[in-house]
Amino acid sequence: MKTDAINMEIADYALEMIIACRDDGSIIYANKKARMELGYGEDAKGHNVYSVFPAFLDESGSPKKMRDLATGEPKDIIAYRVNKTLFHCRAVVFESDPDIYVILGLNVSEEEFLRREISNAGEEVQEADKVKTEFVANVTHELRTPVNGILGSTRDLLSVVTDSEQVKKLTLIEKSCENMNNIISSILDFSKLSAGKFTLEQREFNFRDMIDYVKESHSSRINEKGLDFFVSISPEVPDVIIGDELRIVQILNNLLSNATKFTSVGKIALEIFKTARVGKKVELFFIVVDSGIGIEKADLSKLFKSFSQVDASISRNFGGTGLGLNITKQLVEMMGGVIECESEKNKGSTFSFSIWVEVPSEEEDEEEEFEDEGGELELIAEAAEVIPEGSEEEEGIKAFGNDENISEIEKRLSKLILCVEMQNWERAEMFADSVKQLVDNAPKDIRTTTLHLKMDVQKENYDKVVEDYGQLLKYLSNYKEG
Ligand code: ADP
Repeated sequence: MKTDAINMEIADYALEMIIACRDDGSIIYANKKARMELGYGEDAKGHNVYSVFPAFLDESGSPKKMRDLATGEPKDIIAYRVNKTLFHCRAVVFESDPDIYVILGLNVSEEEFLRREISNAGEEVQEADKVKTEFVANVTHELRTPVNGILGSTRDLLSVVTDSEQVKKLTLIEKSCENMNNIISSILDFSKLSAGKFTLEQREFNFRDMIDYVKESHSSRINEKGLDFFVSISPEVPDVIIGDELRIVQILNNLLSNATKFTSVGKIALEIFKTARVGKKVELFFIVVDSGIGIEKADLSKLFKSFSQVDASISRNFGGTGLGLNITKQLVEMMGGVIECESEKNKGSTFSFSIWVEVPSEEEDEEEEFEDEGGELELIAEAAEVIPEGSEEEEGIKAFGNDENISEIEKRLSKLILCVEMQNWERAEMFADSVKQLVDNAPKDIRTTTLHLKMDVQKENYDKVVEDYGQLLKYLSNYKEG
């Protein structure tokens, strides 16, 4: 009895309600917290848990058996006070002695209130986002209509006007309208992307035709500036792919327009490789190089942020919204890839990105003969071109010293050095690995230099790599000469 008295005293300090009742629900004990919460005053006797917790009644209003309710599982239910006001309560019922049940309960109204507030706030944000996206869509549409009106009329006039001064002014209006349309598109894309409303349209198309189109649309502007323009597609890139053609063009347009905008002497180059293959999926790797104004190291981190132009004077001199690279990054990521930039002030910039596309079944079959003998989901990096084991190709290419083998080594070495030039060390290492595969049976000096090459690539030691590369080429040419 003494221990019971002590226990009850302790129970009065408990932060949660403690109620003991009999099988018929009649309350025999309620701690201080329960008496206060439920408005029982000093004595809880005479009250019943069924009138506190309606969840203890079944659908017809009859009391459920206390034994069935005593599951030991906490449940969020409603609790009624004597004055019929209610609160949210987290309660657990368990059997203490035969015919005595204990209910522990915590008033969670505040927690529930906050949960609802957060959920309402979330809904409000979503609603606000929806309104914002719709607003931007409407405004941009409304803007596009007059701009296209001006553009159409300007082009009509350009076809009849001969006075050179007027042609110059009309051409300026035409260019301004085109710029305005580009800005409108960027704002619309940006708004859709940030509201998560942007979807990619996957269609089959001819990749080389698309690159021709991109090349043609940039050639005249690049040549007008007196710059060289090189475009190369590695032969392993499939002809036909499935992907969002328009958006791939948009990414390339953004990078090539920037390269053109920020370069006044030298060259612009676009190179495309196939870098990996998993089943039907192919990873394409694009490099856009320019010899333009470059970007300070400290500014590289700002580059892909929205509305970011690395320098305020740039927006004055070159125009632009600072949305292009942010949209480009989001598009690249939606296509499963990554985008990076390496740049040096006054030397030029290299933007590289990867995307995953699909190859249609027919194309896939053609390639499979050569590439996928090793297994279904094998990652075939062009860098580490896996040569099917035990195949004739393997015999031919892997056996060191024949023409096929040497020319393959030279090909991979030149790709390796290209990656090193681009500071793409990860890919360079893959090429180093693949060269190692091909020099297994080579004389010791070639094997050792290849190993050094790999280690120096891992250490990202540019000078050493170039030295190893030169050394290897020398050894190979000595070997060829006999
Ligand atoms: P915008 O649409 O204003 O050109 P971008 O997001 O495409 O915006 O580019 C943001 C900024 O990044 C540019 O204003 C410029 O400062 C810098 N930048 C992008 N590409 C290059 C490049 N090839 N060479 C130098 N700076 C570049």
